[in-house]
Amino acid sequence: MVLKNIIFDWSGTLVNDLPPVMGATNYILRKLGKEEMTLDEFRAEFCLPFTRFYERVAPGVDPRQLETWFHEAYIPLQDKVEALEHAEVFLQFVKSKRIRTFLFSSMHQQHYESLQGRIAFNQYLDHPYVGVWDKKARISELISKHELAPGETLFIGDMVHDIETAHHGKLRSCAVLTGYTLLEDLRRSEPDLIVEDLRVLQGLLEEANWDWDAVLEKSNGVK
Ligand SMILES: [Mg+2]
Repeated sequence: MVLKNIIFDWSGTLVNDLPPVMGATNYILRKLGKEEMTLDEFRAEFCLPFTRFYERVAPGVDPRQLETWFHEAYIPLQDKVEALEHAEVFLQFVKSKRIRTFLFSSMHQQHYESLQGRIAFNQYLDHPYVGVWDKKARISELISKHELAPGETLFIGDMVHDIETAHHGKLRSCAVLTGYTLLEDLRRSEPDLIVEDLRVLQGLLEEANWDWDAVLEKSNGVK
């Protein structure tokens, strides 16, 4: 089946925002009198929907308070967000093939918009959905609104929640290792394919002429 649509996750897939997100999370932990997390601890513990993460590390704390603290710490750190190395070339490649593109991210709208001056990926994303806290709960709405054929639609993300969302919508799925989640954890979520980064995926798509079954045949063993 030839792909016609791509749904992108944002953090860890198109941009690296790990330093500010981890910094803001540790700020919250300090406010709560808890120990800060190391990078390894953060990568092992952080999950989406992030409400589930905070129920675990900050049980009983008002989510609005958590959000206020998060913004306080995140905004001064947002200059540290960077485009991932192969992201823009991949987006240009996708647009040159007239693929329909979607963004499906839990990122706060205001944080997303304030980045566009510096990382103008919005020009490549036909339908940006931001502020999506629980992607699994909202994927059906996106599929039906845009009449997406699941076999022609690829979800690319760096977290287990992204892959679970793809499975829930019966979409094709590709996990990238440029983000928050480590290989073993991603493997357990059983994506169709796991790639090091978007450049590897681009090579496979080019070679297979965008036929997803052919991509999986050619990449046999990558997963
Ligand atoms: Mg992500």
